[in-house]
Amino acid sequence: MVLPIENPVKSFWIEGAKSPLRDFRSTPELPKEALDVIIIGSGYAGATMAYWLNKFARDGETPSMLMLEARDVCGGATGRNGGQLRPHFYSRYPPWSERFGADGALKLIQHEVAHIPAFDKLFQDEGIAEKVCFKKGETFDAAMTQEAWDRLRGAYDMMQKDHGVDGDVIRECRLIEDPKEAEEFTQMKGCLAAVVHPTGQVWPYKFVHALLQIVLDTGNLNLQAHTPALTVSERDADGLITVTTPRGSVKAKTCRWTSHLLPEFTKLIHASRGTIAAIKAPEGFIKHTGAQHWDSVVNNYHLQLPPPFNSIILGGAKAVVIHKPETFVNNDQEDIQFEGVPEFYAGWPARDVIGWKGEDPAPFEGTVEEGGVWTGVMSSSIDAFPFVGPVPDKTGHYVASGFTGHGMPRILGSTAHIAPLVLSSLGVPFETPAAAAIFPPLPEPFHVTAERIKTLQQLEPKEKHKLAMEASLESAKKPFAKQPSLPLAMSALAISA
Ligand SMILES: Cc1cc2nc3c(=O)[nH]c(=O)nc-3n(C[C@H](O)[C@H](O)[C@H](O)COP(=O)(O)OP(=O)(O)OC[C@H]3O[C@@H](n4cnc5c(N)ncnc54)[C@H](O)[C@@H]3O)c2cc1C
Repeated sequence: MVLPIENPVKSFWIEGAKSPLRDFRSTPELPKEALDVIIIGSGYAGATMAYWLNKFARDGETPSMLMLEARDVCGGATGRNGGQLRPHFYSRYPPWSERFGADGALKLIQHEVAHIPAFDKLFQDEGIAEKVCFKKGETFDAAMTQEAWDRLRGAYDMMQKDHGVDGDVIRECRLIEDPKEAEEFTQMKGCLAAVVHPTGQVWPYKFVHALLQIVLDTGNLNLQAHTPALTVSERDADGLITVTTPRGSVKAKTCRWTSHLLPEFTKLIHASRGTIAAIKAPEGFIKHTGAQHWDSVVNNYHLQLPPPFNSIILGGAKAVVIHKPETFVNNDQEDIQFEGVPEFYAGWPARDVIGWKGEDPAPFEGTVEEGGVWTGVMSSSIDAFPFVGPVPDKTGHYVASGFTGHGMPRILGSTAHIAPLVLSSLGVPFETPAAAAIFPPLPEPFHVTAERIKTLQQLEPKEKHKLAMEASLESAKKPFAKQPSLPLAMSALAISA
């Protein structure tokens, strides 16, 4: 994947927001003069980078910034995701502690968890919480099988054993082991047990557009939609980096990349495709955001938007897609739907949610073609951790990429780490804003060291993709995933009949 593909299917987040910034260009031509910073990509990483650079810089010292976006503004993963600001409170503890030890795993978790108060503070300070549909609350991991419960409960127990019942994160998690109580809390039919912990949710596209508007209003950002960066040079003798685009080239002292253009990262970051739907629902129908788990591969996740929107945003559909893993592993076909998935989503509320009475013949917000169901591409890192910081041996180049389908509770803290590094390199005095001060130091596994790059370049992506496909096909043999598309398609047809 070098550039995002053209004509992605429509997404409710983008269509529903009706933002005036969608195709925005600050100036008809690209700037002729050299800038301080060029930011490539206007998604969550690019927008928060611009926001922090403006926020950290002392008054009047904000660097001049240019943002290049290949598509419409925020037309990539952030405009097509599940909207869940849902930290891994405990569920990844076993693999992370195995790789990084008990403390290393806890630091990764604490960094994610800090995103909820940091978002809260940022939105309060900017007065945009309501505008971007930000909500805090509780979420659950619902075990739909004993296999899933053994895994979730095992992760919880392991973390509690290592860090004590009063460990600062595990204290915020609780178990519901009685199936009746679990069904009642989660509203999920057939839920055996659940783990509950704090979470957040946001309209990701509106959040990005709101931050960009704040920076645009300062006059320090030039935003250029539909302007892909084609090449990026090393720093020249004048200390400038040249970025070429089909509309001409631009120069800057520093550059924040999307990684697809960097040869070092070609083998390290690959595409994987996901899917989401926006389902019409009565106000306040879903009490808590949550995820259903059948095994470590098959899951769904959902949230409900506050009024006046009220849509349920549902993702996953793994029970359908695992039958054809080549349609999502190392796949960037954002211009097509997954076969059988719109039908699966249409049937989900009646099939899985207790008390669902909706029999709307048109269950989505708009038709499938108008953005009711969509696909999106995640940048997956070969070691499952993002690449954040200065690019080794490339002075003035920074990267924040590879958030592996889980960027919401990782990116704000990652770009808050990079902003002071960029400002220092430009000689701009800075102060840490209150929202950024909430983050603990960037977790070690996120750092972009020459050693990490070298080690990972020795891995064979094809092998990793093969393993992921084999795991999917193994799950596809299990009873809960057997030929789901036929009965599910029929249930959707029944709804629309
Ligand atoms: C279907 C789906 C569901 C997801 N659900 C969740 C979720 O619920 N919770 C969660 O935490 N995470 C989720 N994620 C992951 C999350 O959306 C990402 O981690 C996050 O949005 C990444 O932000 P980004 O800025 O790095 O990427 P993007 O938002 O993709 O931004 C990168 C931008 O760069 C542009 N670009 C690329 N190349 C160039 C170029 N050469 N020149 C100019 N512009 C370029 C792209 O068009 C894009 O707009 C999901 C992702 C998908 C696809």
